[in-house]
Amino acid sequence: MGKPTGFMEFQRVSEGYAPVEQRVKDYAEFVAHLSDDQAKQQGARCMDCGIPFCNNGCPVNNIIPDWNDLVYRGNWKQALDVLHSTNNFPEVTGRICPAPCEAACTLNINNDAVGIKSIEHAIIDKGGENGWVVPQKAAKKTGKKIAVVGSGPAGLAAAQQLARAGHAVTVFEKNSRIGGLLRYGIPDFKLDKRLIDWRMAQLAAEGVKFQTNTFIGKELPGKGIINDAKKIISPKQLQKDFDAVILAGGAEQPRDLPVPGRELSGVFYALEFLIPQNKQVAGDAKNPINVAGKHVVVIGGGDTGSDCVGTSNRHGAASITQIEVMPRAPEQENKPQTWPYWPLKLRTSSSHEEGCARDWAIATKEFVGENGVLKAIKAVRVEFKDGKMSEVAGSEFELKADFVFLAMGFTNPLAQVLDAFGVEKDARGNVKATTDGAGCYQTSVKKVFAAGDMRRGQSLVVWAIREGRQAARAVDEFLMGSSVLPR
Ligand SMILES: Cc1cc2nc3c(=O)[nH]c(=O)nc-3n(C[C@H](O)[C@H](O)[C@H](O)COP(=O)(O)OP(=O)(O)OC[C@H]3O[C@@H](n4cnc5c(N)ncnc54)[C@H](O)[C@@H]3O)c2cc1C
Ligand code: SF4
Repeated sequence: MGKPTGFMEFQRVSEGYAPVEQRVKDYAEFVAHLSDDQAKQQGARCMDCGIPFCNNGCPVNNIIPDWNDLVYRGNWKQALDVLHSTNNFPEVTGRICPAPCEAACTLNINNDAVGIKSIEHAIIDKGGENGWVVPQKAAKKTGKKIAVVGSGPAGLAAAQQLARAGHAVTVFEKNSRIGGLLRYGIPDFKLDKRLIDWRMAQLAAEGVKFQTNTFIGKELPGKGIINDAKKIISPKQLQKDFDAVILAGGAEQPRDLPVPGRELSGVFYALEFLIPQNKQVAGDAKNPINVAGKHVVVIGGGDTGSDCVGTSNRHGAASITQIEVMPRAPEQENKPQTWPYWPLKLRTSSSHEEGCARDWAIATKEFVGENGVLKAIKAVRVEFKDGKMSEVAGSEFELKADFVFLAMGFTNPLAQVLDAFGVEKDARGNVKATTDGAGCYQTSVKKVFAAGDMRRGQSLVVWAIREGRQAARAVDEFLMGSSVLPR
């Protein structure tokens, strides 16, 4: 719990950011982790509150007060061990988690929350710099074979846990590189892809096998879904070759905006822009979408939209406007009403700070074009009364747009993959499986399990890691009768 009086002595210190004019010149990460002294002081702000709500606010239940105390005392290696005991990939969450733990921090009631995420970032970077992250090979093999479909954080967390339990794990991925949205959705300036390679080397040394360019299903996905598969394996074959299968294919079906003009050249799903950009940064072909000198409109106010803003700024767009159908959230949350839960408040990302006009309570009515090419969007202001949305009469307007990126979220996993496996779906089109009790994470098909966005719907990396870990334990129990893997 750090220093008993630390929360009264020290202010919250944020991580250092490279200046905007410098960082928009390339796709490199621009957030520097805290120095040792800063991390020690920030750890000292953790105040022995009695019931650490942060631990429950964190989906992987990171044992936050313990590592805060260890960092305060300079015991970094032990802090890393405690961190790794609940989280397979803190190098990712320490960078891009929205930190629901901090919303739940007791100090957040009447002060600035402990900078939990920045301490996590400092711990794992210190572990990397000192070579403390080494393979943990299983002492003995079980002889059981497990297939993981999808190499995002859910699939990778499951694979690592199961390999450490002695199982032979193969991860199948339709794209050309491992990592799911960590690799091909989230831009490099938020998450350096060398970190994924570094962690994959650990998984490989622990015995995990990776098979890329391989689609599991019957027919390849259609437009809007990025797919580099050169080989198809049928679910039946997979079920025959492996003792258990985990479906961790994410929620890849993007939400569309089927208004007139949707077919115009210039209207894209966000990932049609972001994935080729990540590939270009990795040394593959150039992104076919270039917004340099162009007017960009991003529709949708979340993380994905913000990543389109950051990427467009790096291209050198003439203007970037992000619009959102929901009303503008308040600058400050109502703490007594929301703590320790996730508060509703205006969130301004580092990408917004790099330059972007933002507007709220706007519905898009039409994409306007000339000769098949997008020129503008027609939109209208909306208001909400008793939870119902209505258009404000006479508020129609046009916004110049050469490119529109649709970033309104993802509706569900690819139905064709779930149908090929024959698993039952829930009302939202995700794989139906519970997360507690007997048979948790099991689908309606024998020996087929599901985790991450494919089971819970579009969510966060930290939830995907949690589900991957818990599904691994469920599979281990199913195969061996019991499991010592943590839940
Ligand atoms: C642009 C963007 C930015 C985001 N930013 C953040 C952020 O800052 N912080 C945060 O916490 N979350 C963020 N998220 C959400 C987060 O990335 C996801 O919740 C998380 O990656 C889900 O993990 P997953 O393992 O379930 O699936 P995914 O990461 O989606 O991985 C699924 C993988 O399965 C593969 N696959 C699917 N079907 C098959 C098949 N049939 N055969 C073979 N392979 C298959 C896919 O190619 C993919 O690689 C962001 C999402 C997007 C789109
Ligand atoms: S993983 Fe996310 S919620 Fe958990 S401690 Fe880290 S920043 Fe907080």
